[in-house]
Amino acid sequence: MRRYNGRMNGEKFLADAQNNLLHNLDKEKKECCINNVISSRNELPFKTIENALLHKDYKFCKYCFVKIELEIR
Ligand SMILES: [Zn+2]
Repeated sequence: MRRYNGRMNGEKFLADAQNNLLHNLDKEKKECCINNVISSRNELPFKTIENALLHKDYKFCKYCFVKIELEIR
């Protein structure tokens, strides 16, 4: 679920600055604990995977990234 609170303004991807994990909010699972990331102010918004990876070499969250999206990196 996309967010419009914290630093988020509807972007598809959210990076957790604390553990360097990138989440895909369109495929979010409850295991992602996105609300905890935002409430602890560790969220960074990205519109694309490419932009996120230019910023930092994030790891992909295993819950919300499906295999095919990893293969098009
Ligand atoms: Zn996730």
